[in-house]
Amino acid sequence: MSTAIPVLTLRRGKEESLLRFHPWVFSGAIATDTSGLEEGATVKIAAADGSLLGIGHYQIGSIAVRLLAMGREAASLAETGFDESFYINRLAEAFRLRQSLGLIRPDNNAYRLVHGEGDFLPGLIVDIYGDTAVVQAHSVGMHYARNIIADALTSLPELAIANVYYKSETTLPFKAQLDPVNDYILGSYSGNEALENGLRFHIDWLRGQKTGFFVDQRDNRSLLERFARGRRVLNMFCYTGGFSVYAMRGEAKKVVSVDSSAKAIALTDANVGLNFPGDTRHEAVAVDAFRYLADMEQDAFDLIILDPPAFAKHRGAIRNALRGYQRLNAAAMEKIAPGSILFTFSCSQAITREQFRLAVFSAAAQTGRRVRILHQLTQPADHPVNIYHPEGEYLKGLILYVE
Ligand code: SAH
Repeated sequence: MSTAIPVLTLRRGKEESLLRFHPWVFSGAIATDTSGLEEGATVKIAAADGSLLGIGHYQIGSIAVRLLAMGREAASLAETGFDESFYINRLAEAFRLRQSLGLIRPDNNAYRLVHGEGDFLPGLIVDIYGDTAVVQAHSVGMHYARNIIADALTSLPELAIANVYYKSETTLPFKAQLDPVNDYILGSYSGNEALENGLRFHIDWLRGQKTGFFVDQRDNRSLLERFARGRRVLNMFCYTGGFSVYAMRGEAKKVVSVDSSAKAIALTDANVGLNFPGDTRHEAVAVDAFRYLADMEQDAFDLIILDPPAFAKHRGAIRNALRGYQRLNAAAMEKIAPGSILFTFSCSQAITREQFRLAVFSAAAQTGRRVRILHQLTQPADHPVNIYHPEGEYLKGLILYVE
């Protein structure tokens, strides 16, 4: 079987980054003519001297190959043959890591099982919500592998997955003309409630953003819970109300959730109701965040969360995005009560930790408030960063004490 895998040979000297285990091959590095090659095909990558460097998925574009296996592992796969057992083994490894992280418990069944390059499966995201897996392909190769992946997911007995929902309508390259349909590959809808640290959430993978929930804020929500007691909490960009529900459990005095999307506000109300029925401490408002901050009274809140969508979706948008972060943070710091806590985030991959911190620094300086950093936050362990692929790090946050 392995002999059937086409080989792409690199130009001389272009093997450098692969020898350092960076899992991408850029199109300019390839010497072999790829014109007859099917997009999404599994290929072998060889150095100019013919030595095998890796096995990956080919795609038309600047990143031409995303490597699934490198070094010794690729050599052994080339020997034994590359088939569905590769995906089964990878998913089993991913599951074992989540298990060892203590994420799979009777009171926690929402977590990320596969985080692309961070789990050596570039182009693939899998989030687990109870007995449903939501699968998102970002590469053509993963799109073609979707049924094998779905079977592999349901074949792991401990994972206990009954339903696999495939959601790649907006994540695959448009030019590949795959026309993927968001739908169940296996099973069907069997309820949408999941548990995060004992809190109940409706996860709307059918209509919601991304896979339906931002599991990447789990640890930061837990931290928030510890800061919430007796505070008046403003949760900006609340989406499903994750931070709001933790603030309520943390005995916040009141919680206001803000999102410009009416659908998000309905989800937030539903999730607060699920955990704290009839609790009058909570109120959700559908309004633009900048509008809300401009209109809000001075000192009305002593804990504010700012978790906006990625302001920079690509490198070209960085300057404007940094201005956006500065403006947003300055608006919150301007109005927050003395002795307050500010949780502020950026999920823009294109913006570095340093750049974000500088934007928040500029916001602080603009307001003249005394501001101290209490914690520096990042993505949780079920969103691991492959050390050879630093691009996998995207979530940055600061907990600030504002006087
Ligand atoms: N904090 C959330 C995730 C936020 S996702 C969580 O923990 O799950 C970003 C949210 O910002 C989306 O729900 C989107 O509707 C909302 N949003 C985008 N632009 C906005 C704006 N200008 N004002 C208010 N909300 C906005």
